[in-house]
Amino acid sequence: MRTDLYQGHDYYQMDEWLTEEHKLIRDTARAWIKKEVSPIIEDAFEQGKFPKHLIKGLAEIGGFGPYIPEQYGGAGLDQISYGLLMQELERCDSGLRSTSSVQSSLVMYPIWKYGTEEQRMKYLPKLAAGEFIGCFGLTEPDHGSNPGGMITNFKDKGDHYLLNGAKMWISNAPFADIAVVWAKDESGRIHGLVVERGMEGFTTPTMTGKWSLRASDTGELIFDNVKVPKENLLPGRSGLGAPLSCLDSARYGIAWGAIGAALDCYDVALRYAKERQQFGKPIAGFQLQQKKLAEMITEITKAQLLTFRLGQLRNDGRATSAQISMAKRNNVDMAIHIAREARQILGGMGIINEYPIMRHMMNLESVITYEGTHDIHLLITGMDITGENAFS
Ligand SMILES: Cc1cc2nc3c(=O)[nH]c(=O)nc-3n(C[C@H](O)[C@H](O)[C@H](O)COP(=O)(O)OP(=O)(O)OC[C@H]3O[C@@H](n4cnc5c(N)ncnc54)[C@H](O)[C@@H]3O)c2cc1C
Repeated sequence: MRTDLYQGHDYYQMDEWLTEEHKLIRDTARAWIKKEVSPIIEDAFEQGKFPKHLIKGLAEIGGFGPYIPEQYGGAGLDQISYGLLMQELERCDSGLRSTSSVQSSLVMYPIWKYGTEEQRMKYLPKLAAGEFIGCFGLTEPDHGSNPGGMITNFKDKGDHYLLNGAKMWISNAPFADIAVVWAKDESGRIHGLVVERGMEGFTTPTMTGKWSLRASDTGELIFDNVKVPKENLLPGRSGLGAPLSCLDSARYGIAWGAIGAALDCYDVALRYAKERQQFGKPIAGFQLQQKKLAEMITEITKAQLLTFRLGQLRNDGRATSAQISMAKRNNVDMAIHIAREARQILGGMGIINEYPIMRHMMNLESVITYEGTHDIHLLITGMDITGENAFS
């Protein structure tokens, strides 16, 4: 088992922009990860299971609902704190960050923003404490990049709704207590419904065979004439904009998270390059390896600056969806590229699980696809700057 030696990299002294609270949040998460997660993450990845015993600790470091108000059990933090947390979690593993992101931005956020006060009080404190785990059902077998085409639907049956359909690729589904499910009403309008485990006709089969994000459980959501109480509909917003607003929040977290994965790859590669001797000197002394390392820290620093500014805009409520798309797309692409370069610096050692690089690389193949693919985010930027829709 490798000792986790990570200390962070701050080439442009951005720590000077952080408050004491920001640093405390980040350093607490980092210490918890080093003690509790780094020693077991390779095993969890190999077994293809999210280590559920971490849920309590994740809740304690503020990993569930960091920016949800304290009155609902959240940590009441700002968007920079949320970002720093995501960065630390994904520095360890994208699956760990995904569990936190889904719970915070895709389950707690819609209940907080679009739920009734009763729904908030019923679900949010339990989700914040990790007593409940939630999942977010938007993607369907035949509707991924185009969720507006979804066929999952519900009918008004007087005293309840009758829900039918299926969702696929749902993070946390196999063990989630509740699911925020997006479905069409009889007029074709999209609404969010809270579906609870145990409702008759609701099943969550596990999806197996993933080579990526293995430390996160992924499953389907099947609805076969599920009777959903009327009070489980989120009344505050309908239409595709409702789930997309949740994705904005999660994508912002991914933009920070991807920097974490890149930082870990850079950290490991830099350390290795200084220690590994070939032709009588450390490989860090060869220009080709320096080019790789210098370009890595340059790209990481650019991403850190972009993302910090995005955090400021989000704190002011001014960040646009297109700005978030740009950061998600840029940072995940940057991280995947760095993982590939870092793996090469380690030579043969780059492919074994004594080092985290292949795991990050494989994880990032999911991260570049979910919450809007690399290409879809480019189309969002394209539409934003030209005013022309190239999606269809
Ligand atoms: C590990 C993992 C976890 C996930 N977790 C969740 C979750 O918790 N909840 C959830 O709802 N979903 C989840 N997803 C689903 C994810 O969001 C989708 O996989 C993603 O939106 C892409 O959809 P798709 O896989 O159907 O690909 P498709 O939409 O079929 O896309 C295939 C390719 O076509 C391209 N493409 C599509 N449309 C266009 C176009 N108009 N122009 C140009 N190119 C286009 C795409 O960019 C992509 O390269 C998860 C996925 C993974 C892999």
